[in-house]
Amino acid sequence: MPIRILPEHVAAQIAAGEVVERPASVVKELIENALDAQARAIRVDVQGGGRKLIRVSDDGCGIPAEEAPLAFARYATSKLQSLDDLDRLQTLGFRGEALASIASVARVTMLTRHIEAKVGTFLRLEGGRLLEQRAEGAPHGTVVTVEDLFFNTPARLKFLKSETTERRQIESVLMRYAMAYPDVRFSLSQDGRLSFATNGNGSLAEVLVETLGLEIVRQLLPVQPPEGERPPIAVYGYTSAPTLHRTTRAYITLFVNGRHVQDASLSYAVAQAYHTLMPEDRYPIAVLMIVLPPSEVDVNVHPTKAEVRFRSPEAVFSAVQRAVRRAVLGASSSSPIFTLSRAESERVQHASSATPKAQRAMQLDTQDVGRHTQQVPSEPSSELSAEEDLTKRPRSLPPMRIVGQLAATYIIAEAPAGMYLIDQHAAHERILYEQYMRAQAQRKPYAQRTLQPFTLSVPPATLRLIEENLESMRALGFELEPFGINMVRVHAVPTALSNHNPAEAVAEVLADLEQGKTAGESAFEAQLILRICKAAAVKAGQVLSYTEMNELLRQLERCEHPLSCPHGRPTLIHISAAQLAKEFGRA
Ligand code: ADP
Ligand code: MG
Repeated sequence: MPIRILPEHVAAQIAAGEVVERPASVVKELIENALDAQARAIRVDVQGGGRKLIRVSDDGCGIPAEEAPLAFARYATSKLQSLDDLDRLQTLGFRGEALASIASVARVTMLTRHIEAKVGTFLRLEGGRLLEQRAEGAPHGTVVTVEDLFFNTPARLKFLKSETTERRQIESVLMRYAMAYPDVRFSLSQDGRLSFATNGNGSLAEVLVETLGLEIVRQLLPVQPPEGERPPIAVYGYTSAPTLHRTTRAYITLFVNGRHVQDASLSYAVAQAYHTLMPEDRYPIAVLMIVLPPSEVDVNVHPTKAEVRFRSPEAVFSAVQRAVRRAVLGASSSSPIFTLSRAESERVQHASSATPKAQRAMQLDTQDVGRHTQQVPSEPSSELSAEEDLTKRPRSLPPMRIVGQLAATYIIAEAPAGMYLIDQHAAHERILYEQYMRAQAQRKPYAQRTLQPFTLSVPPATLRLIEENLESMRALGFELEPFGINMVRVHAVPTALSNHNPAEAVAEVLADLEQGKTAGESAFEAQLILRICKAAAVKAGQVLSYTEMNELLRQLERCEHPLSCPHGRPTLIHISAAQLAKEFGRA
């Protein structure tokens, strides 16, 4: 093909790909514009995961009628005049690309009224071309409606993920801005249903209750500069107590001057602050605002501005690490910091009955009903105890005699064939897993009704997962009922979890669930079972009584596959009598 300059609309569509990758990027750009316009309230309505419609309404300063068409021109911005302005940048936008990009790949309308104007302006564009402009009555502020995204770029449309995925992405975008701007009121409706909202009263903690859920927020520690100090690089926000951690860094959310950033090095700084306080492969949950002079950070590195460059990265790294470390260490000397307002406390009826983790009873004897739950009345308890009649099942290991517990993590036992070191957590996971599978196979309801239904606040993304899998979850013993905004009512939990503080256990299972990639229903169920067993199993570091160890071994000896946990790790190490003799030179 000969070299030719691309027609303008084609060039625009190609360029748009950098900024508008998916519906969530449209939402992001429109929210940033609303924030830059000093909006106090931002409302987002979405239909069909954003493919059908995205509407962002704000009460910001609006655009004067004569400037409105210009807003859709490429490189048209009111936020910057020269490159030097970047050093003083107070706005999220500055490239003047977003509206032009969005308009080139969708059907767009804008209704806007400038604060000083008597009437508003209505504009309609399609594939980047202005089709209509007229005066129209409107309240102050701006409403941008984006319909049929990618209607003229089918290739791009093809790459979109499922509607569910797009919905969740949009939710995450909303949540991130809500965290960064707690004094702005946000609301998100998807297909006519309100899925997320904040009150705009300026409290980050209250926004976090909506985004992370109350269970998590109760375990967060505030991060802030020392009293009276205003360091050049200030770090504010919340970070988890060392006892609350996750398997990925995905829960470390960072903002630089009100801009969400993904920065592996800073996430590492946060994790580093927990050195020796948290297992090596675990990560805290944190939401941190890093505030520094605009001249210290280059935001113009990436079209979507997701990455930034610091003038002195080491200084930022150590400021973050020190701030988090101070919060974590300071917490041990004072009481838990996040105190709930009365209203919040009332939202969690079970809060007062929480059992400290350390006092969790072991869930080995299923007849021993925890104080939080009772057997489902319609189900005779004999069924479960009959299930637990161990002697009916064939032995898979020789009878072992307990010698003791090692490091509160391993059980030392002996049998004629030699010595056994048993990983108590892995072994218990195996036992629970097989119990579960047997109950499933016999189609026995494996649920315990909670004495009183209790409510849990869950992040919208988790709520969505629950809604999509209500039936599978019920089959596994969770009777959950979504209600209100981001709440579930828990009516029953799997028996395996009933001796724990069910609220905590359910929260743990759900939190893990959200991370997992779930493909297909059976995969979802299998994952869920694994997670229930993991949450229910005794942990490493838990001191066990002789009776508890004995019960654990008796059950392990009758497992079908006693040698590995359901994740495939070994449950025990066997050193034979012959091996011992050889090691000691007796052979
Ligand atoms: P940028 O935000 O980088 O300046 P955009 O294409 O997103 O570029 O927007 C172009 C211009 O349109 C902005 O600079 C601003 O002046 C105006 N504008 C866009 N959205 C709004 C809004 N919601 N309220 C007021 N002005 C807006
Ligand atoms: Mg913008």
